[in-house]
Parts: sequence; C-alpha cells; structure tokens
Amino acid sequence: MPQCSAKCGKNAMLKRPKTGDMLCKECFFEAFENEIHFTITRAKLFKPNTTVAIAASGGKDSTVLAYVLKLLNDKYKYQLDLVLLSIDEGITGYRDDSLDTVKQNRDDYKMPLKILSYKDLYGWTMDEIVAEIGRKNNCTFCGVFRRQALDRGAALLKVDYLATGHNADDIAETILMNILRGDLARLNRCTSIITDSGDGIPRVKPLKYTYEKEIVMYAYFKKLVYFSTECVFAPNAYRGHARMLLKDMEKIDPSVIMNIIQSGESLKVNETATMPSLTKCTRCGYVSSQEVCKACILLEGLNKGLPRLGIGKSSKAKRILQENSPCCKTQNCLCNNK
Ligand code: SF4
Repeated sequence: MPQCSAKCGKNAMLKRPKTGDMLCKECFFEAFENEIHFTITRAKLFKPNTTVAIAASGGKDSTVLAYVLKLLNDKYKYQLDLVLLSIDEGITGYRDDSLDTVKQNRDDYKMPLKILSYKDLYGWTMDEIVAEIGRKNNCTFCGVFRRQALDRGAALLKVDYLATGHNADDIAETILMNILRGDLARLNRCTSIITDSGDGIPRVKPLKYTYEKEIVMYAYFKKLVYFSTECVFAPNAYRGHARMLLKDMEKIDPSVIMNIIQSGESLKVNETATMPSLTKCTRCGYVSSQEVCKACILLEGLNKGLPRLGIGKSSKAKRILQENSPCCKTQNCLCNNK
C-alpha cells in the first residue's frame, strides 16, 4: 500500500472516490468531515442557538448526516439543538424495520425523535395506497405526501431548520431528470442548498457536495448502524434511469457529479419562461404552486375512489373532480363552490 497522500506517515487504506486521493482511514474521516463543515459555514446554513430537525429514514445518508452534524456541532460549537424527525409511510417489511434503525440512532446519538405516520396525517398507509392504485404511480403519492409530512413535522416541532440527507449524487440525478423533463422551476430549486418550505422553515442540504460512495465508505469505516434494504415498492423508474446514466458516467470520470451540480447552479432561466410562484394551499395551508396542493388533490382522489386524480395535469384533475363529485356538501371538496 502507498503512503497516505495527506503525508501523515501512515499507510493509505482507501482511494477517495471523489478525488482519487490515497488516504488512511483517519485522514479520510478528517477530509470528509471538513468538507461538510466547509459546506455548512460557506453557505451559512445555520444560525447559532437554533433547533434543527434531521429528516431521518434510518438509511445511510440520514444516519451519516445525524452523526456528522452532532460531531461538528460539538467540535465547532454551532450551538444547535438537534432532533430526529421520521416519517412512517406504512410500508410493511421496509419502513417498520428502518424505523428500528432510527430508534437505535436516537439512542446512540442521544437526540429526541418524533415519528409522524401517513396513516395519522392522511388516513392511508402506503400499503393501502398501493393496494388501491397499483405499483405504477406509488412513488408520486409517497414523495408528495412525505414532502408535506416533513413540513408538518418541522412545524409541529417548532424547529428553525429541516436538514435532509440529499447527497451530491441525488442532486446531480435530480438536475438530469429536470433537464430531461424540461422542468425549469424544479431545476432552479433543486440546485439550491437552502430552499424555502413556504412556512418559514428552511430546508437545508449539508451533504449537497458529498458523494454517495464516500457516505457509504464513511458509514462502513465508522461502523455506523444504518438500514440498507431497498423499499419493496421501488424502483421509481424515471429516477432509476437517471441514476444508471450517472453511475455509468461516474465510472469514466468521477468529477461528472460535481460538474453536473456546478452546471445546474450556473444555469440561468430565460426571463420569458413562466415560473410558478409558491403560495399556500387553500385547503391545508401548506406550501403549493397551485391553489390546491398536490397532496390534497391526491388525497381527494383516494378518498373519492378516483386514484388517478392528480396524476397528470392539475386543471384536468380539477375538472374531473367537479364532474364526479357531489361536492359542496362533501368534506375536503375542491370545487370552491361553497
Ligand atoms: Fe416511497 Fe417510492 Fe421511495 Fe418506496 S421507493 S419509499 S414508495 S418514494
């Protein structure tokens, strides 16, 4: 084995996927943690004496995020109160097991944990939703509901920030997907390290520039407990293609991940392009780019036996709903004729 390229005098144990540097374990840990600290301080992600909810799934990203945030908070005196926030989608054989891992994180890292379930928030588990709609659009329901559930949890906990475990590979994949879909609004938002959730609680991504392979390596060498089983309802086909493309390109040149992120950050949207503005859903009060948010439309469809409502154009959804609903007397009606 060659010597560690950080010149610490030890033998190198690994090759950093991001830079190709040959490092010993300790120098890798230091480089990995310092980069996240640099990301946090350069973007001024947190103000001192605030509370941060860490969106915790029990997977490698959120486990490493919780571990490293705690470590940096102690080391650099960020003065943050850290709490874990988990969403139980109600997926048997997946989320029930991964929540056990989150509970282990709670005990190991000594952080309070709040769990919110789809069943309590929406009246449906993902198992029930899939039984109703099948396996084609399940991730649309799950993603929309989870996003809002995290916002609800953050508001409930009265935190100042919601930190998510999105890593560099996730961001690059999302940039690729949004380019392929021509979705300018999302392209703009997905590159931001801080996004406004609409209710005044910013979402932040401390792992934005951290490679997935390095997160796995860090968790492995630190012996962190995380859950690695894939969701029984995966894959989300479209993201899966973007992921495969990125992984193939990363084999040729690992810098493609950073290059895509930097390209996404530098893209300027043409001023003539129509961009949806964020507002509050007139039904539930949470952030939405429409009068009624996607979560409320999807939920309405489920409750009215029209599960495809909300899959596709929202104007079509509204028309279908008005045609099919006795409305006006129905709780959660969308027709606005009350
Ligand atoms: Fe939800 Fe789809 Fe992810 Fe499973 S794969 S947790 S259904 S978004």
